Amino acid sequence: MPVERTEHRGADELHKYYEVYETIGSGGFAKVKLGRHLLTGEKVAIKIMNKKALGDDLPRVKVEIEAMKNLSHQHVCRLYQVIETSTQIFMVLEYCPGGELFDYIIAKDRLSEEESRVFFRQIVSAMAYVHSQGYAHRDLKPENLLIDEDHNLKLIDFGLCAKPKGGLGYELMTCCGSPAYAAPELIQGKAYIGSEADVWSMGVLLFALLCGYLPFDDENHMLLYRKITRGRYDNPRWLSPGSVLLLNQMMQVEPKRRLTVRQLLDHPWATKDYNSPVEWHSRQPLGHIDEDCITEMAVNMKRSRESTTVLVKEWRYDHTTATYLLLLSKKQRGKPVRLRREPAVFEGSCSPLHQGLQSREALHFSEDEDAIIVGSLDFGSDYIDDCPWVSVKKHTPQGVRGQPDGAATTRLASPSAEKRFAYSPTPERGRKTTPHRQERRDRDQEQTSENKENIGSQEKDIEIFALPPPRTPVSSKKNARSNKNVLTTPNQNVNGTKTNGGTPKGGDSASKEHNKKRAADIKELANIEIMAFSPERRSRSLDMAATEDSGKKKRGGKVFGSLERGLDKMITMLTPSKRRALRDGPRKIKVQYNVTLTSQTNPDQVLNQILSILPEKNVDFTQKGYTLKCRTWGDFGKVTMAFELEVCLLQRPEVVGVRRQRLKGDAWVYKHLVEDILSSSSI
Ligand code: ADP
Repeated sequence: MPVERTEHRGADELHKYYEVYETIGSGGFAKVKLGRHLLTGEKVAIKIMNKKALGDDLPRVKVEIEAMKNLSHQHVCRLYQVIETSTQIFMVLEYCPGGELFDYIIAKDRLSEEESRVFFRQIVSAMAYVHSQGYAHRDLKPENLLIDEDHNLKLIDFGLCAKPKGGLGYELMTCCGSPAYAAPELIQGKAYIGSEADVWSMGVLLFALLCGYLPFDDENHMLLYRKITRGRYDNPRWLSPGSVLLLNQMMQVEPKRRLTVRQLLDHPWATKDYNSPVEWHSRQPLGHIDEDCITEMAVNMKRSRESTTVLVKEWRYDHTTATYLLLLSKKQRGKPVRLRREPAVFEGSCSPLHQGLQSREALHFSEDEDAIIVGSLDFGSDYIDDCPWVSVKKHTPQGVRGQPDGAATTRLASPSAEKRFAYSPTPERGRKTTPHRQERRDRDQEQTSENKENIGSQEKDIEIFALPPPRTPVSSKKNARSNKNVLTTPNQNVNGTKTNGGTPKGGDSASKEHNKKRAADIKELANIEIMAFSPERRSRSLDMAATEDSGKKKRGGKVFGSLERGLDKMITMLTPSKRRALRDGPRKIKVQYNVTLTSQTNPDQVLNQILSILPEKNVDFTQKGYTLKCRTWGDFGKVTMAFELEVCLLQRPEVVGVRRQRLKGDAWVYKHLVEDILSSSSI
C-alpha cells in the first residue's frame, strides 16, 4: 500500500483523510486525481481546481458544487466532500474507473442497438431525475458520462447546469455547452427551455452511441451551426427503423415537436426487450439516514448515535458527510459497513473522523497541486482485506417521487435571472479527416438516407445564427483544446482545404519546427536514440498493412500490420535507468476496451514504431518504460491535449496491445490523433 506522503505547512485537510494518487483526467478547469478515503478504504476521484486559474469561472464551480449537493441518484456521480482553501477547491467525488463513455464508444467503433439501449435507459433515468429536481444539465455529451465499476453510467460536469427559479418551464437565455450537441434554439440565440434542449443533446448522444460519430459535424463553426439549425443528418444503413424514428423524434428542430423526457421513459424503443419503463427515481434519496452507518460512525467517533445523526444531518459536505456517504455506498454494494479503527497513518489516538471535527479552521495549501501526488495505487491488493469486516445485506432504499419533467411546465417570458453570456464553443476542434475516416464517411454516406423529417414547419434555410461572441478569457481557456498542429492531416491544412503533398502538415511550419525540436530535445534528454524507419519503409509497411488485411483489420479502418514484415532493425541506446525500466518488461494486462490490439508479439518493436511516429505527428512525449506520456501544444504554448499510450502484453490473445488514455483535450480530436498515430505506426 502506498504511503509516501508529502508534508505541508500546517494541517493538510486533504491528506488527513485521503491518499492522493495519479492524475486520471483533466478538463478545462480541473485536474482529477485518484484518491483513497483512509477511513473506509474506498477509492474516490479528487477534482482539484486552482482558484486563481479559475478566474471568472469560479461561479461555474460554485454552481456545480451546489447542484451536486442537491443530486443523489444511481446515475449521477456523487459528491462526497468539498474542501476549499484560500487558493484551491477540492471536490471529492465518486470514482468511476471505467472512463468516459466517449472512449468506450470509439473503442468499439459504435455500439449495437442492444448495448446502446442499456446506456440510453440510464441516461434517460439520470436526466428524468435531474429535471425532476429542477435542473437542466446543458452539457450532455459522452465525455460527461463516466462508467463505474459495475459498468453503469454516471453523469458528471454540472458546471453549466441551470435551475430556473420558477421551475424548468421557465426559459433560459445562456447559450452554453458544446456546439455539436447544442439544440438549434440555443445556436440561434433564442430563449429556450432547458429540458427541451437537453432532449436534443440526448438525441445527438444516442446517435453517437449507435453510429460512432456525430450527426452534425463540421470543423467550421458556421457550417456546423447551419447543419444544426437545418436539422438534417444522415441515417446510416445499419440503424433500425425504430432507431431512425426515435432519433428523429428527439432531434426535432422545433422544440415543441421534440419528445419529452417523460415520453422517453416508456418509449417503445427504450422499453424493447425490457417490457418496463425506465426507472428514474433515486435509489439513494437525499436526506435518508442509514442506522448501520450511523452506528459505525458513532463507535468510531466515540459519540452517541443521536449526536452522530445530528452531525450527519447537517450535510456540510465535510469529512463527516464523506464518511457517511462512502459507508453507505459500501453497504449498498454489499460490502461491510466498517471503518478502519486505528489507521497507522495518523498520530495519536484520535480517529481521522474525530480529528476533522476538531479542526475546521481554514487550511493553507500549496499552489502546486502536483506536490500532493503520493505514488501509485496498487490496484491488485484490496485495502479493505486487512480489516475484520462484518458482512451485511444489500440495502435498497425506497425511491423518492417527483416529476421527471421538472416542477413548472408553462412557458413564460424570459426571466431576468439568466443573462446571456458568451457562447462557449467547443474548442476549435478543427477536426481533421483522417484518410480512413474520410473513407468511412464516404462509405457511410453511400449507405445513408438523409433525415429530413425532423424539420417540420421550419423547413427553410435559416441563415440567422448567433455568431460566437468574442471568447471570454474563460471560454477560450476551457476551449483552447484544439491544436493546429494536431488537427491537420496528410492532405488537409488547418482550414480544411486540401493541400497537395502527402506528408503530414503540422499547422504552420514554424510551430511544426518548434514541435519537432521539442520532441528532439526530449529524446535527447532521455538519451534515447531510435533508428527511425526510412519514410519509404514506413509507407510500404503501411500499404501492406492496409492491403494485407487478412481479417485482422479492425472495423472502422483501424489498420494493423504484421510485425514480421522485414522492418528495419532498431537500435536503442538507453541510459541505465531507462534500460532498467524497459528490462522489467511491459505490463501484462487483460484486454480492455481502451486497449488497441496489434498483431505483433514484440513489445519493443511496437514501442519503437510508436516512438518513431510521434514527432511526425507533432506530439511531445516523455517515456517511462513502456508508457509514453504524450502532449500536444497550442499556438500560445498551452498544452492542448494530453494522453498516455502504454505498450503492454495481453494474454488472450497473446499479442502486444496499446493501452490508451486521454487525460486532457477534445475527445474527437484525440480519437483521430490516436487513430492516426496507431495506423501510421503500422503496428
Ligand atoms: P472540468 O470541469 O474541468 O471539465 P471534468 O469534471 O469534466 O472537469 O473532469 C475532467 C475529466 O476527469 C473527465 O473527463 C474524466 O475523464 C475525469 N473524471 C472526472 N470525474 C471523474 C470521476 N468521478 N471518476 C473518474 N474520472 C473522473
